[in-house]
Amino acid sequence: MPSERRDVLHSWCVQADWDAPTVVGGAGAWLHLADGRRVLDLSSQAECCNLGHQHPRLVAAIRAQAERLCYVANAWGAQPRAELAARLLERSGFEGGRVFFTLGGVDANENAVKFARQASGKPRGLIVTRDRSYHGASYMGMALSGDSRTQSQVDASAYGVRHVAPPYAYRCPFGGQSDEDSGLRAAAAVGQAIDAEGAAAVAAVLMEPDAGTNGIVAPDSYWPALQAATKERGVYLIADEVMSGFGRCGEWFAWQRYGEAGRPDMMTLAKGLTGAAAPLGAVVLSADVAGRLEHEMLYTGLTYCGHPLSCAAGVAALAAYEDEGLIARSKAMGGELLAELERLKARHPVIGDVRGGRGLFAVIELVADRTTREPLAPWPQTPPALKALVQAAMGEGLSLATRGNLIILAPPLVIEEDDLAAALAALDRLFSRFFPASA
Ligand code: PLP
Repeated sequence: MPSERRDVLHSWCVQADWDAPTVVGGAGAWLHLADGRRVLDLSSQAECCNLGHQHPRLVAAIRAQAERLCYVANAWGAQPRAELAARLLERSGFEGGRVFFTLGGVDANENAVKFARQASGKPRGLIVTRDRSYHGASYMGMALSGDSRTQSQVDASAYGVRHVAPPYAYRCPFGGQSDEDSGLRAAAAVGQAIDAEGAAAVAAVLMEPDAGTNGIVAPDSYWPALQAATKERGVYLIADEVMSGFGRCGEWFAWQRYGEAGRPDMMTLAKGLTGAAAPLGAVVLSADVAGRLEHEMLYTGLTYCGHPLSCAAGVAALAAYEDEGLIARSKAMGGELLAELERLKARHPVIGDVRGGRGLFAVIELVADRTTREPLAPWPQTPPALKALVQAAMGEGLSLATRGNLIILAPPLVIEEDDLAAALAALDRLFSRFFPASA
């Protein structure tokens, strides 16, 4: 008898504790489990199934491509690859730029670092990222990440990575007096970090413009100030849009909220790029960066980079976002979601902060004391009562994602309004049950 529990090594967990349901299918925002139950996916799995599960256009595109051509190496040409690159350049306004396709997010980030070092003529150039960030789980990804769970596994400085404090307005490490002030101070700290090393030694700053994997949502003042700080110093800015892209933050790419003042030199993509129907990532390079690499040998590329089946899924995904108006839908529903969460916060003092909502990405942060903002458990531990709440939610057919004291809501952009409303009503009841002092 095959047994996932016995035979498979699962990621991001202690094997002995693994106890996840088996999924056999899905439709829209719903997952279908092997035991016959349906579960509403409030995290789009790993914040990647932006188009929901089994989107018919994605399934059809992969099937049609498989019948034409399953694989040709990256060094050859493949029609869906060229088409996807053209659409990404058009969507992002990176006129004259180029796209490098990868397998997923972490190798997109790793390649963006390679390109930044090569294009800047600083082959050992430093990369500045921030604490409480996540950029992937390869060794370079762990070095780039300011993730307390993996920092002991890798010597970030050996990879030429420097971390700075994040734009975490609720617990501002710089003593900021408002969201705006906090964002400006966090951006200024990046400038200071570059100056401390000397701009000639720094190749790039790599950061998320918005939705933080670890629940940090940068204030609006942050990203444009960061762009200005990097430009002033002649250092490339790489936007990690692996999670924030494709409508998750209410825009095609989160930096676009700031117009040209937000434009990075490169951006990295994955997840929503294919709605996770097939594995794919990308680095989108500006015309300037691409131009500098035009006559350079590129020592990079994995066997399956830019796989035709994945690129066909990407072309179909972009068409689905557009034809179904999902980017605008996410923006509108995100605003409503945040308003609902504010109401939840008013009813439950265990909720210290709610943030996000620029698209269908929002964070609920739990505290032991709302006045002092004392965390419910030390980061990155998940408080037992929150674990129990998540388990009970699953019993009611709701799949919730947590990180430490945070609940992260990132449903598929196709979620039905009634389903989301019912889920929030259930969450309200669950807060009353598991945090009764706060009801
Ligand atoms: N960057 C961000 C912001 C992410 O959220 C993730 C994954 O969660 C990654 C990079 C890594 O992507 P992948 O798991 O596809 O390598």
